[in-house]
Amino acid sequence: MNLAPAYITGMRPQDILMPVAAGLCCKPGGFHIDPVRPVERAVITHGHSDHARPGHGAVLATPETLDMMRLRYGDDFAGATQAIAYGEQIKLGDVTIKFHPAGHVLGSAQIAVSCKDTCVVASGDYKNAPDPTCAPFEVVPCDVFITEATFGLPVFRHGNAADEIKKLLASVALFPERAHLVGAYSLGKAQRVIALLRAAGYDAPIYLHGAMEKITRYYESRGVALGDLRPARGMKKADLAGTITLAPPTATSDIWTRRFPDPVTAFASGWMRVRARARQRGVELPLVISDHADWDGLTATIDATGAGEIWVTHGQEDALVHWCTAKGLAARPLDLVGYGDEDEGEALAEDAEA
Ligand SMILES: [Zn+2]
Repeated sequence: MNLAPAYITGMRPQDILMPVAAGLCCKPGGFHIDPVRPVERAVITHGHSDHARPGHGAVLATPETLDMMRLRYGDDFAGATQAIAYGEQIKLGDVTIKFHPAGHVLGSAQIAVSCKDTCVVASGDYKNAPDPTCAPFEVVPCDVFITEATFGLPVFRHGNAADEIKKLLASVALFPERAHLVGAYSLGKAQRVIALLRAAGYDAPIYLHGAMEKITRYYESRGVALGDLRPARGMKKADLAGTITLAPPTATSDIWTRRFPDPVTAFASGWMRVRARARQRGVELPLVISDHADWDGLTATIDATGAGEIWVTHGQEDALVHWCTAKGLAARPLDLVGYGDEDEGEALAEDAEA
């Protein structure tokens, strides 16, 4: 890590990465990270639609992220593509970049950008909680750490996801005549919920809404074992009693649910910690399962990076900036627009795919 003041190294972090309207711009490297509008060269952290958009001249990302973009947008989603593995290092212009696992979804990466002696890490979305469906988050020592703040308030403590799965299984046991519909985003959350169910010993078939099939089969093709999965479509209503079906959150509140016998509506999201959100969505069984770090995860990660400067983006920036400042770290919010929270980021794409 670089402890020398900027006037000695001659490189200020804001000369390496700078927030602009299109996203985080690396001028010396000639690229943008997760740009929200089409750019010549994009470096992308993960496949969620608010970070991975079509129409760039060139895209550099992990093979999984490239595949997910291909699945979602078609083969011509970018002019050119280049895959980079975790731990691999590439020189772009005057900077060196290296990808590290972010623990958020399959293929998700933090991007370390180094120039001269200064290293800035753009972590994208991340979580430090265990997830059997993706590589675990890796702490990357750096000078400047760019962190998300989706759940950047002390009230957000996600707890243990396995306990939430126990709640779901208890409800299934209690209501054998009802179907259980679990709202979960189709990229990442759905596969994690399925894997957690399998880890809890649930080995019955799990049913999928049509919008989840492609991406879930893709996870399986990458070696993530998810057990017996079946399409919900074509099933007789009575045969869905006592079963679990995964569906995009938008589908759990529409007429699609009429094909299920007296469904119990569940929703797997970090926002389910907020009771009003669950009520508002008509969720009977809220499951606090998030693919983002909670308050303890964010603050522990910031500590672990050893970074002296923290840039806080998408979410509840203020409390985290305040926490950093009180610890004597330089911290500031980044005014990046176009990134949704855990609910909104995926909603658009799911509507398009459903
Ligand atoms: Zn994401």
